[in-house]
Amino acid sequence: MKIKGLSATGIKDFLQCKLKVTFRYNRDIPSIKNDHAKIGIAVHEALEQYTLRMLKKKSFPDASDYDFALTTFMNVATSEGLENMGFYSDGRRMVTEYIDRYDPSEKVISVEGFFKLETPDGIPIVGAIDKVVELNEDTIAIIDYKTARNALNTYELDSDIQLSMYDLAASIMWPEYKNRVLILDYVRIDKKVSSYRTEEQRQDFRDFLTSLWTQMGNLEPDEAEGRINTLCGWCDYKNYCPAYAQFVNNTLEATVLEPMTDMADGDFLKHWEEISSKKSILENRQRELKMIANQRFMRGDEIATPGQELYSTQAARTNYNIEDVLGIIPQEDLFEVLSVHKVRLDRYVKDRPDLKPALSKIAKVSYNAPIFKIRTKKVEEDDTTDQNKSTAAAAG
Ligand code: SF4
Repeated sequence: MKIKGLSATGIKDFLQCKLKVTFRYNRDIPSIKNDHAKIGIAVHEALEQYTLRMLKKKSFPDASDYDFALTTFMNVATSEGLENMGFYSDGRRMVTEYIDRYDPSEKVISVEGFFKLETPDGIPIVGAIDKVVELNEDTIAIIDYKTARNALNTYELDSDIQLSMYDLAASIMWPEYKNRVLILDYVRIDKKVSSYRTEEQRQDFRDFLTSLWTQMGNLEPDEAEGRINTLCGWCDYKNYCPAYAQFVNNTLEATVLEPMTDMADGDFLKHWEEISSKKSILENRQRELKMIANQRFMRGDEIATPGQELYSTQAARTNYNIEDVLGIIPQEDLFEVLSVHKVRLDRYVKDRPDLKPALSKIAKVSYNAPIFKIRTKKVEEDDTTDQNKSTAAAAG
């Protein structure tokens, strides 16, 4: 397959599902963006245009700058066809809060810089970096905005392909800086997480790109098969994908299953991944069904056959304003009915860091039910040898 350059998204697609890569490069198949992608595009554009404007103004923002950024967001969101009304409020809040935190003293050296480069090994790479800021004469911060609700953890950051791509591209574009801090700025939850790459990691990534470049070049579109995975529900091409259609249609068929208690660890992990993928795909499908049902109900349509109809119920939730409650409940009984809102307290302490030590001393930590996740483990050579030996012994 002829590919002009490797991008972080293209690589992730290739590792996730080869069929998705062939869809992406097929001009006859338009991608259908979901609302999560559309809000991401609109927020990125608003922040980019806002930063460019402020670089010229070199001042703290005033009301006209808020207006400018919010209008940019709304224009892009509507032209992208964002349908979910809740997402408009989310996007406006993200843009407003980003401007609230804006620091005009930041030394920005690039905004939404598109790059198309060749690595020292001759591999073409492409992408765009949201913002680059000089931290000191030796160090730059490469910043990527994210509109997701959950930030990557340290382990995920260290192996993130997009960040490795930015690190490599920045080392080529700005070689005068010795250090590069890689930052994901989660604008929805006001959280920044960072990482960096060592020389050795950068070399490993270059070797990885060289190998992928060959593999992707050898990919024959006709031979690529869909690989059902946890991200299928968000795939822009799922409506064209036979694997997805087959999965959604067949998934409820009964099968005879091996007892879980008897499964070997390898089978257990494989089954875990399969079930996680299925759950995620079906939940996503159900979310889409609900969204369409909601839109139709709002238009006054009904969804019904002669014998059945879809209906909706809503559980009521009652809230009280704290100031009103304080005026009614006697002071000595307040502790029985009031509780501390942790998220709001954390937000408050951000502006009063002097209170942190005292609060940490009285904090009580409890644990929810454990969350299980699968991650890749570094295999030590001895382990592989041992495994090979035991496999050979078992085979013998
Ligand atoms: S829906 Fe899933 S299997 Fe189909 S192309 Fe997309 S990622 Fe691949």
